[in-house]
Amino acid sequence: MRYVLRHSWAVLATIALAGFAWGATGARAQSPAAAPHARSPFVSIDTAVVALEHVTVIDGTGAAARADQTVVIEQGKIQSVGPSGTATVPGGARVLDLPGHTVIPGIVGLHDHMYYGSSVAGTRSMLTSYPRLFLAAGVTTIRTTGSLDPYQEMNVRAAIERGTIVGPDIIVSGPYVQGRNSSVSWMHELGSPDDARRLVRYWSEEGVPWFKAYTQITRDELRAAIDEAHRHGMKVTAHLCSVGFREAVDMGIDNLEHGLLTDTEFWPGKQPDVCPVASDSAQYDNLDIDGPDVRRTIADMVSHHVAMTSTLAVFELGSPSRIPLDPRLYEALAPAAATVVRAWYDTAQHKNDHAERVAFGKAMAFERAFVKAGGLLAAGSDPCCLTEIAGYGDQRNFELLNEAGFTPEQAVQIMTSNGAKVLGIGDRVGTIASGKQADLVVVDGDVASHPSIRNVTLVFRRGIGYDVAALTTSVRGMVGLK
Ligand SMILES: [Zn+2]
Repeated sequence: MRYVLRHSWAVLATIALAGFAWGATGARAQSPAAAPHARSPFVSIDTAVVALEHVTVIDGTGAAARADQTVVIEQGKIQSVGPSGTATVPGGARVLDLPGHTVIPGIVGLHDHMYYGSSVAGTRSMLTSYPRLFLAAGVTTIRTTGSLDPYQEMNVRAAIERGTIVGPDIIVSGPYVQGRNSSVSWMHELGSPDDARRLVRYWSEEGVPWFKAYTQITRDELRAAIDEAHRHGMKVTAHLCSVGFREAVDMGIDNLEHGLLTDTEFWPGKQPDVCPVASDSAQYDNLDIDGPDVRRTIADMVSHHVAMTSTLAVFELGSPSRIPLDPRLYEALAPAAATVVRAWYDTAQHKNDHAERVAFGKAMAFERAFVKAGGLLAAGSDPCCLTEIAGYGDQRNFELLNEAGFTPEQAVQIMTSNGAKVLGIGDRVGTIASGKQADLVVVDGDVASHPSIRNVTLVFRRGIGYDVAALTTSVRGMVGLK
């Protein structure tokens, strides 16, 4: 919704966006010959064979949770998963006895930016804190979905691949594909459809596989960007406003971000190519999610195989009185940023955000209706600002998807295998099955009966086990700075 997203983006738009040098913190400064994974202080398990015994498995397919399972990891892959009573654990395996724990696939975060904006330090790439935070929270693959600096993202991705730093697998995005009158100073503003083609062509040739079109783009520019991306075998998603969902679907877009509250086609008086300003925060009160207009949009998306990315945690910034306090947030934020966020949060607790809560409920209903109609729903955290930071935002999404009416198993599926399907890597990651890459998240607790994934105790990426406490401690006071 404009007022939700304006609310958060206003924070970004009003800050001083002065550039500054990255110095030695960038990935380029890392030596290619630095320590491999095994010597990283963040690695707790690097044996070739590991058995996770007596765990409950939610496998990412949407199937019901299975109690008392044993998952065997071998050489970075899942070798087997089955009942502990009949499981064969190879000799020499590192055996972890984990009753009371749930194992889910590594989260595939589809809207997981590499930057954070605050009024304290501006919008900055979080090249140090975010990769570790994502990993610590169980996010093993991200698509950055709108980049502040694609070269930085490519360098971080390469450093993670080399093992010189730790983090998730990064699907890098191009710079925002934005039209005129951007409220964000670090975005290029397209001048024409040809300009859109030029931008997409350059970054496609640099190897960027996804682009995100943004709020002010015109239909002609978006159509050109999609066509040019597809010519190069690349894909396009969008956070729309000036263009409606059905118009973008008709152009062949591959994915749509955020959902109902960024689809302006239901707004009264919407003009073509113009991002409307919300006149009335109660405008969603009378929108019927089961009515013919919304049904037509959903049917179009489903029949054209356009996936949708749920970002409930960032929408919740629009109705902040309902956000539960996450004390981990203030530990991760840089002290000055924490002060600002705390003041915002404390004030927000007394805010009358009834209309925004109604809209938020409609956004949840829209996602439910989309899935019911056969749509492919994935999720991402949009860790842009305020209380929305890497990893913890994804964990909040899980709770919100449950609140939206999905079962814990469905919520896991949305956050794992559905994201992998959107990215075209579903044959390799996203579910717990033999032969898949061993990207696994161990959560303390029975996630199926108490739907929370905040208590992550161990994260495996490609069979390497990462120490959640060490990762989390190492980024204390960093978010907002680096
Ligand atoms: Zn975003």
